[in-house]
Parts: sequence; C-alpha cells; structure tokens
Amino acid sequence: MPNSVTPTHCPYCALQCGMNLTPAADGTVEVSERTDFPVNRGALCGKGRTAPEVLRSSVRLTSPLVRSGGTLVPASWDEALDRIAEGLSRTRTEHGPDACGVFGGGGLTNEKAYTLGKFARVVLGTSQIDYNGRFCMSSAAAAGIKAFGLDRGLPFPLEDIPKSGCVILVGSNLAETMPPSLRFFNELRENGGTLIVIDPRRTKTAEQADLHLAPRPGTDLALALGMLHLIVAEGRVDEAYVAERTVGWEDARAVAMSHWPEYVERITGVSVPQLRQAVRMFCEPEDAMVLTARGPEQQSKGTDTVGAWINLCLATGRAGRPLSGYGCLTGQGNGQGGREHGQKADQLPGYRKLDDPAARRHVAEVWGVDPDTLPGPGRSAYELLDALGTDIKSLLLMGSNPVVSAPRAAHVEERVKSLDFLAVCDVVLSETAALADVVLPVTQWAEETGTTTNLEGRVLLRRQAISPPEGVRSDLEVLHELADRLGVEKGFPTDPEEVFEELRRASAGGPADYSGITYRRLAEENGVFWPCPAVEAVADGDAGADGDAGEAAEGAAAGLPSADPADPADPIDPAEGTAPGVTASPATPDADSLGKAVSGTAPGVHPGTPRLFLDRFATPDGRARFVAVAHRAIAEEPDEEYPVLLTTGRVVAQYQSGAQTRRVDELNAAAPGPFVELHPRLAERLGAAEGDAVAVVSRRGRAVAPARITTTIRPDTVFMPFHWPGEGRANTLTNPALDPTSRMPEFKACAVRLETVTP
Ligand code: SF4
Repeated sequence: MPNSVTPTHCPYCALQCGMNLTPAADGTVEVSERTDFPVNRGALCGKGRTAPEVLRSSVRLTSPLVRSGGTLVPASWDEALDRIAEGLSRTRTEHGPDACGVFGGGGLTNEKAYTLGKFARVVLGTSQIDYNGRFCMSSAAAAGIKAFGLDRGLPFPLEDIPKSGCVILVGSNLAETMPPSLRFFNELRENGGTLIVIDPRRTKTAEQADLHLAPRPGTDLALALGMLHLIVAEGRVDEAYVAERTVGWEDARAVAMSHWPEYVERITGVSVPQLRQAVRMFCEPEDAMVLTARGPEQQSKGTDTVGAWINLCLATGRAGRPLSGYGCLTGQGNGQGGREHGQKADQLPGYRKLDDPAARRHVAEVWGVDPDTLPGPGRSAYELLDALGTDIKSLLLMGSNPVVSAPRAAHVEERVKSLDFLAVCDVVLSETAALADVVLPVTQWAEETGTTTNLEGRVLLRRQAISPPEGVRSDLEVLHELADRLGVEKGFPTDPEEVFEELRRASAGGPADYSGITYRRLAEENGVFWPCPAVEAVADGDAGADGDAGEAAEGAAAGLPSADPADPADPIDPAEGTAPGVTASPATPDADSLGKAVSGTAPGVHPGTPRLFLDRFATPDGRARFVAVAHRAIAEEPDEEYPVLLTTGRVVAQYQSGAQTRRVDELNAAAPGPFVELHPRLAERLGAAEGDAVAVVSRRGRAVAPARITTTIRPDTVFMPFHWPGEGRANTLTNPALDPTSRMPEFKACAVRLETVTP
C-alpha cells in the first residue's frame, strides 16, 4: 500500500473537493491541501478535513454481524454471505424476484452504483431497485430532461460563475452545505456581478447576497412565475433567442401573464418592489444564471418548480450561452454519477431509459444476457420503502440510512422492521444497520479506488490511500461473492478499473457517455467532463470497446433525446415523429454539438464536454422546451390544527443522516444535536425561551428539540436540521407526498403545530 502522498477527493458532498492524504505510522491519515484541483483549490470544510477520523473510528465495523437470538453478534464472512444469499434466494423462490428489494446510495462510486444495478437486474432479476439520490436531485433531473433533453447538474464548470453578471440561487445554503464553493460567488461579486438568494431563511448564504428574497416555503414556483410576468411586461424577453432556440413559449407566457405580481406577493410574501428589483438585477447584465438546490426541488411540485426557473433562463436567452444558463447544485458526493449508471428505478447505465428497447439491447449485450430477461422500471425510493414488509420481503441496502433520512421516518422504520430479511453494508452500525439480520463491514473512500462524478459532470478518480482494516471488504467484493452464491459466477469483478472498463462500454452512445474516459486519463487530466465518447472507436465504426457499431448507433438513439414515458407532460412532441420511449436518431446530437471542445487533449481523443448546449439542446430538434406550469399549493397547507410550516435542511458540521459525521468529535462538538429554529414572535406566542424543549408535531409524528430563537426565519415557519435519529428526528415529521414526475417527496414544507415540553 502506498505510504506517500495520495491525491484524492473528499467522501462527502457533490463538490468532491480535492485533498491529499498521507498515512502516518500510527495508522492515522493526515489531510493536506491539494491546490491543483480547480473546484476547491485546496480549501476544505470541517467535514472534509476531519473525514479520516471515520477511517479509524472506534465504532468502525470490522467484522460481519448476524442476528442471533435477537441481537447482532460477530460472524465469519462466509457465514454472513451465506445468510444473505439464503435470505434473498428464499424470498425469490417463495414470492418471486420482485419481492427482493435493493436500495443504494448517492455516495457509492460509479463502479458500485453500476454493479449494484447490474446485480439487482441480472442476479436477482428484480425491478425493485432505487437509491437515496431520489431524495436529492430527482426533480432537477426530471426538469432538465424535459427542458433540455439531458440532465447534467451544472452544464458548465463552477469556474464560469465569477464571470457571469448575476446569479440567482434558489433554495441553496451552500455556505453551509459546501462552503468552499462560496468563493465562486464572492468572486462574482468582486467582479461586479450580483447574487440573489431565495430562501425562507436568512441563511449564511443569504447574508452574502445583494438581494435576499424570503418566500413562504413551497411557493418558489409562484415566485418564478411572478418574475416571468414582469420580464414580459417590461419587454425583457429575448424574442430572437426564443424564436430560434425554444418551443412552447406562447403557452408558458400565457400562464405567467395570469400570475400578476400582486397575486404572487400574496402567495409568496415577497413584495412587488422586491420582485421588480430581482428582475432588474437578473435581466440587466448580458450573462446571468439560475442555480437551484433542494429548496425548490424537494417539493411535491419540484419538477414544475425547477421548470419555472428554467423558463426564466429561456425567456431571457440565457440557457446554452457562455457564462449563463440553468444548473442544479447536486448534493451527495456521487449524486450525479449515482443516477447515471443504473441504480435508479427506471434507468440503465449511461443514463439510458430502462424501458427503451434499444437501450435494453445495448446494455444486455454488454452484460451478456437476453434483453427480455431484464426487468422493467420499479418503484421510486419512498414507494419502495413503503412497500417493505408487504410486496417487498427482503432488502439489500448499501450506502444509505433511510431510518433517519427518509420522509415519514417512523413509518419507514416500521416498514424496515417488518421485513422478512434485511442485509446492510456499511462502515458503522447506522440506525438502519442496527435493524438488519446481517451487517457487512465495508471499505471506505480512502481504502479503495473508484470514480465519482461531481456536480459539474466532472468524472474524478478517487484513489486508494491506505489499506483497509483487517476484516472489511469492498462493496464490489460483496456483490461478487453474493452473485457467485446466487449462481452467477462471472460478470462481477472486484477490481474497480475492470468494472469501469465495462461501464465505459455500457455507457457508450448513451446520454452520459463515458466511453472515452479511462482511469489513466482521469489521473493525468484531473477529471474529465462527460459526455466523452471514444472518438477513435466511433471513427472506426465501433460502438466502443465492445466493437459493435450498430449497437452504438442504437444506444445513441436511445439516449439523448429520449422522452420520459412515465411523464404525462412529456417534452417530446409526437408531431416531431418521436413517441415516448422511441427516439429519433437523426436528431441525436453528438457530444461536440452540445458544447465546445477544450484544448490540450491528444488528437483522436475526445476532450470531454465542460459546457453543454452551446449550439443545440439535446432534444430531437435541438430546441429547449418551455413548460407551461401554474402555481399550486403544497400538499399539506397549514390549518387550525397544524398552523405552522416546517422546513428542513442541513448544518455545516453534519452530513446527511450523520452516520459518518456524528462519529467525529470535532463535528459533534460544533453541532451536537437537533434544534428547532423559530422566530421570536412565534416563540413568544408559544411561551418558549431559547433552549427550551419544543415539540414539533405533524400528522406523521412528533419530534422534540431545543428552541433556537432567531429573526432569520419567517414568523410562519420553523426549521429543523435532519441529521439526527431519536426524539429529535426531523424526518419523523416530513411529508412523503410525491412529485408526480420525479417521485421526490415534499421534504421542504409541511404543516406542524408546536407545543412546549415540561421538563
Ligand atoms: Fe468539500 Fe463537500 Fe467535502 Fe466539505 S464536504 S470538503 S465542501 S467535498
């Protein structure tokens, strides 16, 4: 194992900051600055800086555990793997393959996400696989596909932000979720650009803004419509761009014109003068961007809400132009790559649609199986969790802790407990792992090599820096062993590079085409942006490394302009000759036409695509789609019984369900537990003082946490971070009402009442 400096990347958020790791003689690992990675240029937040502590944590799992007499006890790897294979096999025999569920995570590397999807569909033959990334960015992904024909979080590098003229950040508290990214926005302002932050709370990010708009939670869609109304009324529409590069404007315009600013003010609480100011700041510079995050996305109308913000970019001629456009700030470390390679319920590797016959044929050939044996789309994440113990009897779970992170978490916990069999792979005994029949201890980020894809679509090589502790194995080894025990001896390599080589072939010709990317290139070039097709192979009439030109063409047709058949408002117009699930290959753009090549790459090698859509969008006709969407209320409006709105989010010192960060002393000292943030007026009505225990009650349960009284939140809203289990578990309260397209739950707004708690 190397004992010198290893350049690698942080295990946590989608920024995927670069860092250097150096093993010390005592078994610990030192983190040092890695300034050559352009995203963070050496800067790290406290989570990244302390990430090595989890590697040698005293609570690290180093032995498999099996349930015996009601408790988890250490067992050999063979016994644990045999028990999992038996559990899954029994379920399959007794109830059919779809009674086996698989649940993945947005932190898994591309290789693991790919292998987990293949394992579910080839070994178990189940359609029931999804992952926690569904809770992260799925609404933005669905909206991006509707509007542009393709979803890649940011269609431009973060380095473009400082050169833009104005950025609207909708529902992102990046000063806490990904602090090193704040420098791009600081540089924007230093360069004379302006920052508008839209958030019901005056967050640390909002404090940096030139303009902060604080709409009522769940009304971002109305806010975007109000701005679009003013853009039309003030004659700020880029008519030439709209005519040349878009379709659907008249319908979108008509809806916006029915949302008068005064009406929008009543819905959102944002005044008309503030709306006008935001429009002026956004429209006056030549270049401007809208970036969304979980605020507008985690709603039961998240797809439409993001679509409304994209409309703003299209009406003003910003999307698909340099230093301008729409992007999503994906949250989890490999939230982007995790959704591209097959652990999503409806997708195959390369971001292909699972119900596309050509995509199925292509991937089935790479996998060496009959396409007719591949199951169809399964349930989305919450629906899958809700079916545990009823339709789904056994679950294999990797890299997720839904007992803390899923909405309506007490119900999800009951569903998990009702399973016939649960197996969990994790590094610590998470709250979900503690309920398992078998727990497998697996390697962590610094102990294994693999690739991730950050929020920019930049594919990165995370290198192994240290040896794993005795007793743990990688997730790839686990899947190899389980496949073998379930009768599939080949096709599940344990070497990550071997998996990546297969992933390249599987992705060739798809929307997220990785076929031109190799480990060697990733190491030499410090990351490569997809799409990156294998130029030489294509030029030779080859689909990629598998050598089938016909399949490559089918794959390409299957990919880029593919409609979403599950979406009633499918963006692809049948009049264009493309029915849902069927694609028009002549209109399929190649990677070069989506963006501009970068220099410095050897001839015959595709340079990757940092900027998308500069010449055309990834739709059959190359034009972006407006969506005509009207405001509608959240699924659960406050009423007499539950008169206050709850919104949830993160704090800087914890990450997601806290399974890793709650094991780090420094982070726990900075953020030891949950709290309820509320306005002084609300606190006064409640009779609560700072630090008093407050019960927050929704139709789904009750959570108790100390009051944190602040004027930075609206008087009609309370905020809770969601990183903790137990009585302060915020997700006990949240509403699983789903977006009809993305199947995203409405984490960001539900009705609650507050009660004081007598000590
Ligand atoms: Fe960077 Fe995110 Fe890691 Fe912090 S958690 S160091 S922002 S990648």
